[in-house]
Amino acid sequence: MDRPAAPATLIPGQPTLKPLLHPRLINTPDEDPGLLVEFLFERRALLFDLGDLAPVPPRTLLRVTHAFVTHAHMDHFAGFDRLLRVCLGREKALHLFGPEGFVDRVAGRLAGYTWNLAPGYANDFVIAATALHADGSAMSAEFHSRRAFAREAEREARVENGVLLREDALTVRAAVLDHGTPCLALRVEEPAHVNVWKSGLEALGLTTGPWLRDLKRAVLRGEPDDTPIRAARPGDGEAVLPLGRLRAGALSTTPGQAIAYVVDAGPPSRNGGRIVDLARGAEALFIEAPFLDADAELAAQRNHLTAGQAGRLAAAAGVGRIVPFHFSPRYAGREAELAAEAETAFREGLVGPRGAPDR
Ligand SMILES: [Zn+2]
Repeated sequence: MDRPAAPATLIPGQPTLKPLLHPRLINTPDEDPGLLVEFLFERRALLFDLGDLAPVPPRTLLRVTHAFVTHAHMDHFAGFDRLLRVCLGREKALHLFGPEGFVDRVAGRLAGYTWNLAPGYANDFVIAATALHADGSAMSAEFHSRRAFAREAEREARVENGVLLREDALTVRAAVLDHGTPCLALRVEEPAHVNVWKSGLEALGLTTGPWLRDLKRAVLRGEPDDTPIRAARPGDGEAVLPLGRLRAGALSTTPGQAIAYVVDAGPPSRNGGRIVDLARGAEALFIEAPFLDADAELAAQRNHLTAGQAGRLAAAAGVGRIVPFHFSPRYAGREAELAAEAETAFREGLVGPRGAPDR
């Protein structure tokens, strides 16, 4: 491939594939934590934490295939009911992940309702719940609306390197943090990012469109050059070209986009290494910043980070940007101070000497 490997996103008009992952916080930083990750060209979404989900419209909740619950403190799990309410009666499988004990939590939430009518629904809504343990083992079970959400298909598995989900174009990995209770930190990433060069497409007489998603998947699966790809021509036309011709004429591959999500965690002395490992090189780190450095002792007692610690961890991980959130209500009206402390610590950490982030 003789295309330049520079990130095409810096050259206006060149790349036609924008970032695959579109993350956004569900609530304001002083409200319940939660991240919605949507995908370019796909009617599909991931959720990190199930706190207050009221701002997420039902049509978006219905696109959620996998939800990752960091831990079952109420501000991270109270929205389970809304998700269940929206999905109930649909032919849909929802994969839920959480820390040790999580399958029991899900069973407990489901046991809070009467399901005598559910077996009569036309569709089977299925919840597949998995609990990741700190030793890398996992427990999972299924709950089908068709069988009144009875717990079934229980099994144990090994989770290699914390990888909870692996698809052609997507990996979700977790690390188990110490928050006084086991708590998952999460990283979602593309294995590689396939850039499409508009000039190359034009030279081949092609145009952009959803077909680029299938092209990208074929590349990520490592399919051979003679694989036929259905491409779009300007004016609703179609053409079938061998993958190799597209690869040589219009594609380059750069490292994939990664996003990390870290809430809640005790101080860096107990969690810093795992947070930095998980977040390393991520384009964005969404990280809790509930306390000011001035209250570091209180933060440690409550098993939380400070904003300054969050910023220094982000710098040590070399992330592209930090998004501090999950502010404590004790700083109501002073949220800007928390954000500024995190941002300043991040900037100073990036340019200053790389010390240990453990303070
Ligand atoms: Zn918590």
